Amino acid sequence: MDVIIGLGSNQEYREMKPFEILNNAKKKMERRKIVLGTQSKVYISHPFSDTSGPKYSNSVLIATYAGKPHELLFELQQIEYELGRVRHERWGNRSCDLDILAIDDLILPNIIEFNHWVSIGLNEQIKISPTELIVPHPRIQDRGFVLKPLVSIFPNWKHPVFKKTASDLFNSLPDDQKVFDVELT
Ligand code: AMP
Repeated sequence: MDVIIGLGSNQEYREMKPFEILNNAKKKMERRKIVLGTQSKVYISHPFSDTSGPKYSNSVLIATYAGKPHELLFELQQIEYELGRVRHERWGNRSCDLDILAIDDLILPNIIEFNHWVSIGLNEQIKISPTELIVPHPRIQDRGFVLKPLVSIFPNWKHPVFKKTASDLFNSLPDDQKVFDVELT
């Protein structure tokens, strides 16, 4: 499968800064047979729900994976745990957040569920998260911190439901969600 993965961190873990956590997550992906392709730079932004919180580092990469979608999710969740992710606070600080943004042109588990998770409002999004894998990730179109790095490596990626490219989706965002710093390497 060709997959697109989003990586995020806004917290240190065992003296690793977010930037190092993302690099570490990539090494762990390779050890778990997620074959990395093009990778974006790391973009810095403020958290979506609380602009006073610690800054976020985000990047996006393209990869191939020979297993099944739920196996990929399992591998990524294992890496999140190894890098200190504790799941108690929705949208709280997190040392490592790995999202499956897309898998080929698949819509999982089906278009009805996908549309449901796209349509839920901000209040619900804060309180509940899906227990099953939803692909494409239902929040891609809302998030500059996903679309900016995605556009930098794959501007012509076409959303399999919305039939718009990554560039189109990014350009539709409000201007204040389009500005990022790039982390120096
Ligand atoms: P979050 O806290 O936002 O990382 O959401 C975590 C939960 O969302 C996990 O338990 C996953 O089962 C679920 N989930 C649904 N779709 C996805 C996806 N495309 N990528 C990652 N996690 C997902």
